[in-house]
Amino acid sequence: MDAARLESELREAGLKATRGRLGVLEVLTHHPHSDAETVFRSLFPMLPGTSIQNVHNVLGDLTAAGLLRRIEPAGSPARYERRVGDNHHHVVCTACGAVGDVDCVVGHAPCLDPSDAGGFAISTAEVTFWGLCPSCQARSERAHHDEGER
Ligand SMILES: [Zn+2]
Ligand SMILES: [Zn+2]
Repeated sequence: MDAARLESELREAGLKATRGRLGVLEVLTHHPHSDAETVFRSLFPMLPGTSIQNVHNVLGDLTAAGLLRRIEPAGSPARYERRVGDNHHHVVCTACGAVGDVDCVVGHAPCLDPSDAGGFAISTAEVTFWGLCPSCQARSERAHHDEGER
């Protein structure tokens, strides 16, 4: 990811290209759907002296500017990603919390129409699919197998 592109993305969004903001964008480019704690841990070696509070502030600024999307699967801290504005959905593992992207099968936002929106003008629909990720499936199959042999 070249820094010049990230810098111009920030400037176009009306934000100064600080090292903290560049660093957070860089981390989320490589690790989408990270929570603040994970971003902080990846950022710290690149930017010693940064704080978790600083990371929270940067994530808030970037989300408000539309450069990041914030998702909050139930039971998990807020996660952030750079893939914005395409109304994609998420699949979340009920066992380990792994998050994946699911392309919207229908198309543009809002891809789903409620039968009765109670007078609201609907702009987006956010669907969370829950299930077991491949590694958790493998783990539970192994566990079953082990039980069978006992
Ligand atoms: Zn899992
Ligand atoms: Zn996503």
